[in-house]
Amino acid sequence: MVRENEIRAGEVSVEAPAATDAGLAFIGRIRTPWTHRRAAPRQGRKDGPPCHIEIFEPWVTALQGIDAYEELEVLYWLHLSRRDLVLQSPASDGTVRGTFALRSPVRPNPIGTSIVKLVKREGPVLTVQGLDCLDGTPLVDLKPDRCRFTPLAPPQPGDDETA
Ligand code: SAM
Repeated sequence: MVRENEIRAGEVSVEAPAATDAGLAFIGRIRTPWTHRRAAPRQGRKDGPPCHIEIFEPWVTALQGIDAYEELEVLYWLHLSRRDLVLQSPASDGTVRGTFALRSPVRPNPIGTSIVKLVKREGPVLTVQGLDCLDGTPLVDLKPDRCRFTPLAPPQPGDDETA
């Protein structure tokens, strides 16, 4: 179940260190149809509603070449999440699992990730499908999907190291 910051049966919170957010500078804002956590999809789907990623200056130039990729990895800051739970009960039924064994938005550093389909780019705005975040969610980073990206830099010895 989606939460609104409540503590459920069996869940455990801790006194989290003061949040400094590691000096992150948000690079844009995500526009989606969802304004309530209970209405957003739990995970985005590539045939989901079109959403818009607005890139702020001075980062718009950093979009150069992005149109070459059909799929992007989007990292965003789930800014409304509580950040102090170590055990969570997703089904709200008293059974719990550790935060790092879940993709819950409730985590010490509430980073969300989605692989999205790039529909089009118009200047600083990307239209994508596959997001699950609220309208206005801050954008942390954008990258080509790793499965579709071939490194452009020369190979390094570590590339061929195996167990
Ligand atoms: N796809 C991401 C991931 O796996 O890292 C996020 C998954 S998380 C389960 C998605 C849920 O987070 C949504 O259904 C919504 O309830 C909640 N959510 C979306 N945007 C949020 C925001 N800005 N702050 C807090 N919670 C948010």
